[in-house]
Amino acid sequence: MSNEKSVATDPMRYRRQVILPDWDEETQELLTKATVFVAGVGGLGCGAALNLTVAGIGTLKICDMDVVDVTNLNRQFLHKEKNVGDLKTDSGYEELSAINSGIDIIRYNQEINEETVDEMVGDADIVIDCFDNFPGRYTLNKCAIRKGIPMVHAGIWGMEGRLTFLQSPETPCLSCLFPSAPPRAELPVLGAVACSTGAMQAIEAIKYLTGRGKNLKNRMIIMDMSTMRFQELHIKKNPNCPLCSKL
Ligand SMILES: [Zn+2]
Repeated sequence: MSNEKSVATDPMRYRRQVILPDWDEETQELLTKATVFVAGVGGLGCGAALNLTVAGIGTLKICDMDVVDVTNLNRQFLHKEKNVGDLKTDSGYEELSAINSGIDIIRYNQEINEETVDEMVGDADIVIDCFDNFPGRYTLNKCAIRKGIPMVHAGIWGMEGRLTFLQSPETPCLSCLFPSAPPRAELPVLGAVACSTGAMQAIEAIKYLTGRGKNLKNRMIIMDMSTMRFQELHIKKNPNCPLCSKL
């Protein structure tokens, strides 16, 4: 057995999270059996995917159709200088597999649209919205509603991150919160803001999958990292939402 293989299966690997309050070996087993779909391996997606990988999620699906650009390197830490021009799913897969060879990582380097999304998400237990565009986010939102699975939504702009846990009909859906897409613009962002917000998405997913803690249902946190003032907003369903008001 190679050293990598023995480390991958070493029961001590997850020791420090198994001793968390309310956790035990069975809690870890819940993660091992889980499938998470991470939409986008950009600024948010690198933080989310890395933290799900080290936590020992059984199956991680990563989706992105972009190639690595030099302007990505200030925040998208799974992609290295040598990867500029490579598919993000390939460089992401390479790095995540090296970090934890004991989990299954499935890559999709194709566009998410109405024709592709259901098959790609498949039987995932939860989806993580790490997209940087609203058409993709809306498609993912509709898929999550159809499948009855939650979606962890996050966004970043400049020094600000925002985060919420959507599980319609219990909570608003993305279209309740954003009935129309904001205009696209070049995103100003500090890498640490993207990374930490993506890590928080992973925390929300891990809490849901293990039944531990309390998810950000009907709440959104707005994190102004320029002052480290965090605000919690109570968010509501749109009674006229075309997607979820009838659920
Ligand atoms: Zn809605």
